[in-house]
Amino acid sequence: MGISGIALPSREPVSFVVDGEFLRTSDSSTSDDLWLLPGLVDVHSHPGIEAPGDPYDHEVFRRHMLAHRSAGVLTVRSPGSADPVLDRPDDPDLPRLARGGRWLATPGRFFEGYGRRVTEEELPRAAVEDSVSGWCKVIGDWMPDDPPVPLDVLTATVEAVHAAGGRVAVHCQTAEGCRNAVLAGADSLEHGMHLDHSLLPRMAAQGTAFVPTLTTFGKTVQNLDDSKNPRHVEWIRSGWEHAFPTVRAAYEAGVTVLAGTDTQPCGEVAREISWLIEAGMPVEAAIGAGSWTAREWLGLPGLVDGGFADVVGYDADPVEDPDVLMRPKLIVLRGKVTG
Ligand SMILES: [Zn+2]
Repeated sequence: MGISGIALPSREPVSFVVDGEFLRTSDSSTSDDLWLLPGLVDVHSHPGIEAPGDPYDHEVFRRHMLAHRSAGVLTVRSPGSADPVLDRPDDPDLPRLARGGRWLATPGRFFEGYGRRVTEEELPRAAVEDSVSGWCKVIGDWMPDDPPVPLDVLTATVEAVHAAGGRVAVHCQTAEGCRNAVLAGADSLEHGMHLDHSLLPRMAAQGTAFVPTLTTFGKTVQNLDDSKNPRHVEWIRSGWEHAFPTVRAAYEAGVTVLAGTDTQPCGEVAREISWLIEAGMPVEAAIGAGSWTAREWLGLPGLVDGGFADVVGYDADPVEDPDVLMRPKLIVLRGKVTG
């Protein structure tokens, strides 16, 4: 099979033949006039459960991953999963999965009784165990007035995982939780609500990525019930007001900002990209946040000779018309046309 078109982000005309699961440069171009991406990427999704508290269900996982695939999402990172099997092999029909272990939750943090419960003392060792497939996920804080995981505990956790060759994603949505995650040297801040902008240069320098998950917060804010706990409502609302300026400031400071939805239904990363644009990221950078930049960050190649044959084609330039990301014309995963 031949694939040709204009590749992003280079904007160069390219022509490939599919050789098994890989792309090879070809001299003969086909007639399809497509704009080509190396697939979309959702770096924050939890396939396998419908809602927090649910046990892992492999049929639900397959359905979620197929929903990602039919939206052109060919790579998914799951920072926290209910799947008790940490190193389940990839299913070739489904998008590539960067596994992030379970949600590592210390006392008083996370949905009660959910995730892998560990003491603060046990956290570093548990994080090393959970990062066997690459990533682990630490619940770094929880409610607005509760203390986050202490800095010395989080630092020891990040150091232990890095020494074992893994990476650490930290859930943080309080100012103090975000600060601890940055000072501990986490590899990614998930949510980052109430993040103090003075930490952004340090994030850029040490390579801590920011995954603002605007899709899920946008839904939460829309459904806020003002009759509920006023402190909680105010905390979410002020976090949301802070979110767009933080995305913009992070991008301008040189932080790697990435697209993650953290919500149902799966397959909505194009919506997260449009949120990033609305927050003030340049269109091309926002698309990269949900495609080539995210792939590179996960160690995957883009549209190059010898790269994986993961390609999504659109009939208009997504940089001119980001809405076209909702309507892929061609989806090729591991060399197979799927849509
Ligand atoms: Zn999440």
